[in-house]
Amino acid sequence: MHVGVPREIKIHEYRVGLTPSSVAELTAAGHRVTVETQAGMGIDFTDDDYVAAGAEIAATAAEVFATADLIVKVKEPQLHECAMLRAETTLFTYLHLAADKPQAEALMHSHATCIAYETVTERAGGLPLLRPMSEVAGRMSVQVGAHYLEKEQGGRGILLGGVPGVAPARVAILGGGVSGINAAQMAVGLRADVTIYDISTSRLAEIDEMFEGRVKTVYSSKAAITAMLESAHVVIGAVLIPGAAAPKLITRDMLKLMKRGSVLVDIAIDQGGCFETSHPTTHQDPVYVVDGIIHYCVANMPGAVARTSAFALNNATLPFVLRLANLGAEAAMAADPHLAAGLNVAGGKIRHAAVAEALGLEY
Ligand code: NAD
Repeated sequence: MHVGVPREIKIHEYRVGLTPSSVAELTAAGHRVTVETQAGMGIDFTDDDYVAAGAEIAATAAEVFATADLIVKVKEPQLHECAMLRAETTLFTYLHLAADKPQAEALMHSHATCIAYETVTERAGGLPLLRPMSEVAGRMSVQVGAHYLEKEQGGRGILLGGVPGVAPARVAILGGGVSGINAAQMAVGLRADVTIYDISTSRLAEIDEMFEGRVKTVYSSKAAITAMLESAHVVIGAVLIPGAAAPKLITRDMLKLMKRGSVLVDIAIDQGGCFETSHPTTHQDPVYVVDGIIHYCVANMPGAVARTSAFALNNATLPFVLRLANLGAEAAMAADPHLAAGLNVAGGKIRHAAVAEALGLEY
């Protein structure tokens, strides 16, 4: 099969659909790979690296879209990219269509087969192509929290891990899922005083066992969160109710309970945020202050560590890319219901029930 990798054009997106080592796996399996020139330059993958992996370099995105059977990307295609998709093409990327009707309509218009990373499932019930980004965001949330606790950043002037004779910072993590656990691992590693709040008692039990006493677990009730706010220095919002907006666990009037210069990191901002005072920010201007509390609400945290994120994403996507290339989209999805769950658009129609419902379009 002919696999194509266009350069990402969304602003400040430096990740790339396939790393050179993923390209090498595909070419070793007998596939042809075309990569748009400079596609990996933002994270120091040169055209020469791709050529060494067996790829051909195309001068333009149009060339990639015109010739490849399978397009592998990172972000949702922009409207003029959708216009380049052909009915015979399979597109494999993050789509996040539920909130983007113009993009959904453009993809329907193309008649291409569009498989979204974020709805691919796995036997254990998770979302394997979202997990790596939650891992990145979770781990990053602690370094972000530590940074904004510094006085020069407007923070309280506290070292996350403390020093001998001075207590460490208290980190509260709301949600003990993928990002919450990864945040806890980092916070424990930096010797903070860490508590995880969750509404799943089985999850709390797993966390208790996993951390062997180095993390406290508390059932996430309004009373427990209110009690925590007086002493917490960093609160990380890592909750998810699949398919729903994040619950507002900290309201504006609760901010007055917190110490000035404390930090809220709202990882769940892509689902609306779990603090009432959250609104999405960018890496260019990541924080703002409400009632003396620093808010960090970047909706695309993994973008800041694009090289790590590109490798992590490829580790998860490559097995699916290989199957799509080896079998073709139809046979690969027929053989794997979890990959088939990724199908969002095909033959000019929405093919995912939840996406269709969210968009108010026919399924
Ligand atoms: P997950 O499903 O692995 O974990 C969510 C956890 O939240 C679960 O354990 C669940 O029981 C718990 N929970 C639900 N309601 C709760 C409540 N009221 N109180 C406490 N816990 C509650 O989810 P995840 O993969 O960790 O993702 C978390 C969020 O982070 C999602 O919205 C995801 O889209 C987002 N995310 C954001 C970025 C970013 O750059 N900002 C990057 C990756 C993921």
